[in-house]
Amino acid sequence: MNTETVWLALENSINARRDQVIQLIQDLVRIPSFEGEGEVQALISKWWRERGIEPDIWEPDIQVLSTHPAFVDVDYDYHGRPNQVVMFKGQGGGRSLALNGHTDVVPVDPAPWTYGDPWSGKYIDGRVYGRGSVDMKGGLACGMIVMDALLENDIKLMGDLHMQFVVDEENGGNGTLDAILKGYRGDATIFLEPTSPNYLVVSSRGAQFFRINVPGKEAPIEHTRTTVNVIEKAFILFQAIQSYASWRAAGADHPLYDWDPTKIPVAVCKIQAGSWPSTLPALCIMEGSLECLPGEDIELIKEQFKAYLLEAAGQDNWLKEHPPQIEWFGLRFESAATASDADLIIEFTRSYRHVTGNQPVILGGGGSDLRLPILYADSPSALFGPAGGAIHSTDEYVDIDTVMEAARILGRFILDWCGVADGLTRRKL
Ligand SMILES: [Zn+2]
Repeated sequence: MNTETVWLALENSINARRDQVIQLIQDLVRIPSFEGEGEVQALISKWWRERGIEPDIWEPDIQVLSTHPAFVDVDYDYHGRPNQVVMFKGQGGGRSLALNGHTDVVPVDPAPWTYGDPWSGKYIDGRVYGRGSVDMKGGLACGMIVMDALLENDIKLMGDLHMQFVVDEENGGNGTLDAILKGYRGDATIFLEPTSPNYLVVSSRGAQFFRINVPGKEAPIEHTRTTVNVIEKAFILFQAIQSYASWRAAGADHPLYDWDPTKIPVAVCKIQAGSWPSTLPALCIMEGSLECLPGEDIELIKEQFKAYLLEAAGQDNWLKEHPPQIEWFGLRFESAATASDADLIIEFTRSYRHVTGNQPVILGGGGSDLRLPILYADSPSALFGPAGGAIHSTDEYVDIDTVMEAARILGRFILDWCGVADGLTRRKL
């Protein structure tokens, strides 16, 4: 089958879907999905069933997940929070492709929105506003309309194409991990996260949350000459973490992160001590995140960080006698990157050029689910999706032109990657 003929039909079909994509993003945004994705998943299932497609729907099993090394430790289960996958089986002889989109969003704070409220899905001047519009209901809609356009034109691919609609990405990625454990993989994976269609993100930083406890002795404020104030001692460690971060940033050298002034984020972001304004605190707790670049092993970086802090502590007489307790908790990501000469990058760039006449900028990103198929499904992966603004904050929006642009590029890449077996017989439902 001639790919160019099929492409023309597919591109026209995608271009005709601007109103459909706006409506779909609005419908998705109008379901708040920060405290459970069941309702938004039901809307997606219904959308597919209206097209004669039955998704595979299941609830992640926390017992199975929690035995996996990439499990992000959470204190809840996935009852009422199903994953789902829509599979277009290929005719054989082509490469498979996985698309992935998360259905959860982050919560909103009470600040008023300029355009509607966080769940209004208001459309103004080419943008749809609302929590989750750009992260990443716009990306979900992008994948859905491209697959719908394939259906409408009865385009049969050679390789399998499937899309994973996953839960619980914002808290670390257990939904994607579960889809992988269920056996869903592609010869490549594209996460339709909001990169903007100018960029293809091909790596993920490693990260680990840390907690530092500096225990002391509670005492009335009159005892400041005889009792150590643990806040003062914690501050020594706070400064040591800042100098560690500067030292790491100065030594960072990775071509995918040239764009990033921070390169390796490491910081204390939460401090807690004391119970009364005139009582010296018994304990100071500092929490933060330690990150690393692709090619670095987060476990080795954790050891390095701990040794650095203990050495700094050893230079203070009191801390030497009362060493801080350094703990790891919560989020833990391994770093990962798709090789720069991977077929995914080379061929995506070719498809991209075909549609736009330009090249995508290829760069590295922060922690994301991208690490999971690379490390656990042997699937080179990238993030690619629409653009917008105010991600995770007030007045979040997605730009519809960029959803359409990402959809065209994705459509072309699907044809090139999976291969076209047959097409252009209009589907009769
Ligand atoms: Zn996201």
